[in-house]
Amino acid sequence: MRGSRQLDVLVIGSGAAGLAAAVSASSAGARVAIATKTTLQACNSAKAQGGIQASFGEDDSPEIHAEDVMRSSHETADPKLVEILTSEARSAIHWLEELGVEFTRSNGGFRLARCGGATRQRLLQVGDRTGHAITKALRETYEAGSGDELSHHKLLELESSDGGWSAAFLTRTGTAEIAARTVALAAGGRCFAVAETQGELSTNHPNATGEVTRIAMNAGAEVRDLDALQYHPNGGAWPSTMQGYSIPETTRAYGAVLRNADGEEFTDSLGPRDAVSAAIVAEVEKGKGVVTPDGRPAVWLDTTKIAPEDAAISLPYMLRRYRGSGIDPLAEPIYTYPVLHYQNGGLVIDKHAETTLEGVFACGEIAGGTHGRNRMMGNSLLECVVFGRRAGRAAAERART
Ligand SMILES: Cc1cc2nc3c(=O)[nH]c(=O)nc-3n(C[C@H](O)[C@H](O)[C@H](O)COP(=O)(O)OP(=O)(O)OC[C@H]3O[C@@H](n4cnc5c(N)ncnc54)[C@H](O)[C@@H]3O)c2cc1C
Repeated sequence: MRGSRQLDVLVIGSGAAGLAAAVSASSAGARVAIATKTTLQACNSAKAQGGIQASFGEDDSPEIHAEDVMRSSHETADPKLVEILTSEARSAIHWLEELGVEFTRSNGGFRLARCGGATRQRLLQVGDRTGHAITKALRETYEAGSGDELSHHKLLELESSDGGWSAAFLTRTGTAEIAARTVALAAGGRCFAVAETQGELSTNHPNATGEVTRIAMNAGAEVRDLDALQYHPNGGAWPSTMQGYSIPETTRAYGAVLRNADGEEFTDSLGPRDAVSAAIVAEVEKGKGVVTPDGRPAVWLDTTKIAPEDAAISLPYMLRRYRGSGIDPLAEPIYTYPVLHYQNGGLVIDKHAETTLEGVFACGEIAGGTHGRNRMMGNSLLECVVFGRRAGRAAAERART
């Protein structure tokens, strides 16, 4: 760290949630550091392609957005958190725009797509690199300020100490201890580690290993829905270079449909994620799936239905990846099968993103409640920004008192 400053807010993790918290705490005047396991760029957030939800449509509202979240979660989400998520969505988008994120526009407004479980077109996109654009803008904003960066600081332990918290880290050269008045945990989920243990594919970054949730639990934090892991309905199943790739849900928003071996559409391709994943697995179990050239179960995602103009605007990265592997999704259907993707549950938080430990805040995938047991696509990046901002502001405020 620059000098030996006493920290107000220590942020753990440099995905969208940690960066939003750090930027907000810094602008509230706090002395902030981000500690992260490897580099500042390494996170799931930067891999997010599809988009971010906010009710900008004329026929839409935060209340309708909230109803969609509650229904998709099978009424298991925390309505207080959902109300905050959806009512602050538009201001979160405007804040990101001020920081330099250029959302794709059409006909004078945002280009909005309908994602699984949604009753309205509500998904904003930056081409199909939305997470990359958001994390880049947040990172550049943070780096332009006075906050410190502690890369290669893997959190090992968190203990309450006089007037705050003490954090122990593994660094490249040994160990380090850092004291701060408040802490914002934004270390993401655990799907990479779980997939590895279970011998499955995952969309996740290798740093998504979940130890920070365990560390917070050891310090006494409460959790909810931790067993509820989400499968992305459309993992890439073939070619091998695309295995574990999350085929953006916007493929289905722009017309792709799921088909079985007989070419039949066997489910609503824009249903909630858990329903679509379950339908694919059931179709394969009925013997109506297809098999990839290396023997994996799959069904077809018929991407030939996507209009080339839509693909050019909203799916250029996905097209480049598949075409680079020798398959043109606009000319032939692609193999797909559900793949481990997201930790729905996590640390219990209140409306200021404070956990059940005083002075410890949590935002992003590490926190539970906002999505209940089944998240809608596009609401995770939104949660990172809305609750990251809240966590940063509240942590800075608490550090002052
Ligand atoms: C391929 C993919 C596509 C996605 N697409 C979308 C989408 O289109 N829309 C959407 O809303 N959501 C999407 N998601 C989900 C969403 O991107 C993530 O859930 C969200 O970005 C998580 O953000 P986060 O900041 O909580 O965690 P992350 O972005 O995962 O960041 C966690 C950070 O914590 C660090 N960390 C981990 N452990 C430690 C430790 N012990 N000590 C210090 N640091 C640690 C990591 O290195 C990392 O920097 C997608 C996810 C993936 C993987």
